Amino acid sequence: MSGIFGVVSKRDCAETLFCGTDYHSHLGSAYGGMAVLGEDFMRQIHSINQSQFKSKFYEDYKKMQGNKGIGVISSLDEQPIYLHSRFGPFCIVTNGFVENAQDLAAGLLGKGVSFSEVSKGAVNVTELVAKLISQGESIVDGIEKMFAAIEGSCSLLLLNREGVYAARDRLGYTPLVVGRRPDASNGEWAVTTETAAFPNNEFEVEKYLQPGEVVLINEQGMASRRPGGRTTQVCAFLWIYAGFPASSYEGINVEVVRERCGRILARRDRDIKVDIVSGVPDSGIGHALGYAMESRRPYRRPLVKYTPGYGRSYTPPSQEARDLIARMKLIPIREIIEGNRIVVCEDSIVRGTQLKSFTIRKLWDAGAREVHVRPACPPLMFPCKFSLSTRSISELAARRAIHSLEGEDLEDVSKYIDPNCGEYKKMVEWIARDLEVTTLRYQTVDDMVRAIGLPREKLCLYCWGGECNRK
Ligand code: SF4
Repeated sequence: MSGIFGVVSKRDCAETLFCGTDYHSHLGSAYGGMAVLGEDFMRQIHSINQSQFKSKFYEDYKKMQGNKGIGVISSLDEQPIYLHSRFGPFCIVTNGFVENAQDLAAGLLGKGVSFSEVSKGAVNVTELVAKLISQGESIVDGIEKMFAAIEGSCSLLLLNREGVYAARDRLGYTPLVVGRRPDASNGEWAVTTETAAFPNNEFEVEKYLQPGEVVLINEQGMASRRPGGRTTQVCAFLWIYAGFPASSYEGINVEVVRERCGRILARRDRDIKVDIVSGVPDSGIGHALGYAMESRRPYRRPLVKYTPGYGRSYTPPSQEARDLIARMKLIPIREIIEGNRIVVCEDSIVRGTQLKSFTIRKLWDAGAREVHVRPACPPLMFPCKFSLSTRSISELAARRAIHSLEGEDLEDVSKYIDPNCGEYKKMVEWIARDLEVTTLRYQTVDDMVRAIGLPREKLCLYCWGGECNRK
């Protein structure tokens, strides 16, 4: 996943753009980028593989001048892309995943369109989106045509002389939210993936964009350019794992959902006696706090994250880098662990290898009496096609369990998805043995949906059930 942020102002906007974009740093670790428009476009892109956005852009932003800008933390490609089109020059940042990117690029190449940002033979998806848009009769027509052409998802910000166009993905897999500084006389508007970027930059939420909705923000305010559609397929994983606790999507706060998830997990655990409740930092903490409040057992920190310098162990592209971060970032406290029966709330189990080696093993080594793991979502069965990669299907812990139980990979895994089936129970027992935990109980889809609080049909639940609504 990536995070995008845009701002327009009557004053220089570079500092706000820098601070707002930085609040998306948990969403990606490949590239950071910023573009501002004053007298001319100014654009900076850096790799953020080895060091944080803050350190790479701190000097840059002071040299950037302009009253409108867009920024990105990208998990994939270099952005923003600058293009001189028949609508004039523009810069663009995107958030999403285009499954048919190579086919669409081949179609454009056949029409004589060229690509400049090619890496290892693959086109840059943001450049592809920019070129699809530039095939339209207008910017909005181009966005509509791009929406119709892509398989996957794409939310974007487009910066030109008119202001910042904000377009939320056609089915709303990723969020986009417009904010306004209460003192509107300054004409200060922003648009963001994460609303956590708003309070400290003194913005208030003005509008959660609807799926497919396009607005233009500039010094005059916000103007609608395309109405939103009714079908929403917002990513449920945003609340469970990917999103920042201080953010809200569709008006629903992430931390509050995580607490509700934890409470529900605790209600199904009346038969388990534990001494302390803990959460795997960072996203497991909200779930654990909910569990502790409901079970009336103390929330404690048997494993403390060494915060300076260690990001999420999931986002770096190489397994080696992920493992190093996972090994080093959690430090056990023997005085809290020894002799205790511990519940560990976790957002989800993807491969399970890091959880086993760098969390559970540390608890046993420090003398835990029992370790009970409680993921806040059901077993992951399908890699994401829309916004957040969960790597290949065979890496998923649930799929490894099924392969081991069946002796082969299955096409139809429905009996392993239904928590009432014997096969589901065997799969969970297999994963529990593999993780070496005392007990393992996953959240159910129904309870996860209840915790989020949106109607089921408005959520993307593809990771868990393999069904998508592409209407
Ligand atoms: S497949 Fe999973 S991660 Fe991807 S958008 Fe759907 S719920 Fe989110």
